Amino acid sequence: MTISPATKVFAVIGDPVAHSLSPLMHNAWIADHGLDAVYIALPLRSGDAAAAIRALKGFGFAGMSVTTPHKEAAAQAADRSEAPVANTLRWEGDGMLSAFNTDGPGFLDALDEAAPDWRGRVKRALILGAGGAAMGIGQALSPYVDTVHFANRTPARGAAAAAAIRNGRTLRWEDLERGFGAADLIVQATTLGMRGQAAAPDWPISFCRPTAVVAEIVYRPLETGLLRAARARGLASMDGLGMLIHQGARAFELWFGIRPDPARARARLIAALT
Ligand code: NAP
Repeated sequence: MTISPATKVFAVIGDPVAHSLSPLMHNAWIADHGLDAVYIALPLRSGDAAAAIRALKGFGFAGMSVTTPHKEAAAQAADRSEAPVANTLRWEGDGMLSAFNTDGPGFLDALDEAAPDWRGRVKRALILGAGGAAMGIGQALSPYVDTVHFANRTPARGAAAAAAIRNGRTLRWEDLERGFGAADLIVQATTLGMRGQAAAPDWPISFCRPTAVVAEIVYRPLETGLLRAARARGLASMDGLGMLIHQGARAFELWFGIRPDPARARARLIAALT
């Protein structure tokens, strides 16, 4: 493609962003649809990220993805935000900045794809972790299930995540065997098992019900120990690319009004990860 003064510029901002897969995913979709746009990665190291984002207004960016640790700052910087934590920004024609969170809805889209019948049968969800991703997923799941249990290494953070939703509960990290045994859906939303982070424990998959669905949001490596164990037991499972792709697809639609093809993104991302 040719970059001209008319080319619309999009970016992912965060710290770090050097290994982000978002530029690959969005530039390929931009090419699929013959759009005059480009998507780059901008590392933002700032003690006041909200001010830095507001200052971008004059540069003519069309939209941005926001990743750790700037999702709260992005919501604060916006003139209007649909959530207190945002992963997608869009500059409107009138210069106003709108903020959205596509993480939770993107997780649900991915779950619909991986386990299409989950809405009818998941009553009790167990989320491992209570960080930004875990909270977004808990909020998205909350209206569709009876209870959302958070099990987190630091209990206070788990309690805060549970208190933020109507049907939130906590489960002690020491009680994972019981939690795995009672859950219809288990979501691994800690950094455990991620390349470069602490190794994951032997998750108590043998305690799971045969109908349980196991979802992972770590995608480096694509097949984590949790997924390997769940698949060996024949459980329905979902890998970490599902959420990445679907939150991105929703952001792309917010920017361009076009729903891009998740399957093409998956093939490209798997090629990049292997
Ligand atoms: P975060 O806010 O920093 O939260 C990290 C979570 O991991 C916390 O619950 C933390 O527990 C837990 N944790 C970290 N080290 C641990 C350890 N050694 N033992 C037990 N728990 C530990 O991070 P985040 O933004 O929620 O992201 C979490 C993971 O999800 C990351 O791997 C990220 O790459 C991935 N992610 C994937 C997608 C996707 O689209 N697939 C989207 C967003 C995030 P404490 O509270 O006790 O510290």
